[in-house]
Amino acid sequence: MSVLVFVEGDNGKIKQSSQEAVSYAAAMQQSPVVAVALGSYSQDELAALGRNGADKVLHASDQQLDQGVIQAYASVLSLAMDSTGASTMVLARSSLADAVAARVSVMINGSLASNVIELPDQSDGFRVKRSIYTGKAFELVELLAARRVLTVKKNSVQLKEDGPSAAVEVFNPELNQEDFKASITATEKATGEVLLPEADIVVSGGRGLKGPENWYLIEELAAALGAATGCSKPVSDMEWRPHHEHVGQTGIKVSPSLYIAIGISGAIQHLAGVNSSKVIVVINKDPEAPFFKAADYGIVGDAFDVVPKLTAAINSLKS
Ligand SMILES: Cc1cc2nc3c(=O)[nH]c(=O)nc-3n(C[C@H](O)[C@H](O)[C@H](O)COP(=O)(O)OP(=O)(O)OC[C@H]3O[C@@H](n4cnc5c(N)ncnc54)[C@H](O)[C@@H]3O)c2cc1C
Repeated sequence: MSVLVFVEGDNGKIKQSSQEAVSYAAAMQQSPVVAVALGSYSQDELAALGRNGADKVLHASDQQLDQGVIQAYASVLSLAMDSTGASTMVLARSSLADAVAARVSVMINGSLASNVIELPDQSDGFRVKRSIYTGKAFELVELLAARRVLTVKKNSVQLKEDGPSAAVEVFNPELNQEDFKASITATEKATGEVLLPEADIVVSGGRGLKGPENWYLIEELAAALGAATGCSKPVSDMEWRPHHEHVGQTGIKVSPSLYIAIGISGAIQHLAGVNSSKVIVVINKDPEAPFFKAADYGIVGDAFDVVPKLTAAINSLKS
């Protein structure tokens, strides 16, 4: 039975989270693995999904699909499920994917599991493990319908990068104009070079930074690492930083490979947004700061002393 993977892009580049979703599908040991890309992409970009384990890529290239219109995406993807006979659809978790996955599962009368963190157990039925309560608990779910839709959490599977090029096929079903009931008229980019929810590395600052005038410490370290910048809630409440950088239970939840927390105490509400990071590094001058309990590496020291040295060391390693 084939597995379908919806791949998301940004300006014609497939997102790493979607490459991971393709790797996840490939590791399920069902074939063929068919990726579906909606909107404008180059042939080379799509063929490269073969490295992640796609056997074939279906490309619905209508420019109307360049905007992430949820209803239209759900319609095209459920048609792709029907036409390929796939039993499973995999999506990398994102706000778009969550909305699309829910609609597709209704349209195909399938089972839905979101925030999946491991490969399914297919030994007797189809069971998945999913993360719940912002990573504080797990749920084992048996998916009972013949077809199923999974959204996969970032960093749940090793990225495969050694496959051969994939064949790219045109897939242009007739679009239902009734699906285009919303149109994006403008997009304003948030500040920062790297977007926080997608970032592989995040450098975050807290009240220990003393004021917005000291954020150059965070920005310079982030620039050296190619990281996104984040902050604790009080920092955004005091308007030292914009609200879209606020990480935690009431803010953005991140799952980077590396999260560096500087001058953040590690309150439970902050940890709720970062506890699925692969590696956590904490820099805090208080050895009793609760964040150290959640850290893989910790530096007890003054941020104003430690951070410039860390940035300089990283820059000198790079040059
Ligand atoms: C309902 C609710 C929801 C919440 N949601 C969130 C959320 O989503 N995200 C969030 O972040 N918070 C949230 N909070 C707030 C949370 O409880 C904490 O108050 C907050 O995270 C603390 O922010 P902070 O660590 O930056 O500040 P502080 O608690 O003031 O900690 C500052 C830290 O900096 C250290 N420090 C000071 N000077 C230096 C220095 N020179 N060098 C190095 N370290 C230094 C201190 O030792 C201290 O550990 C929420 C609270 C509630 C009640």
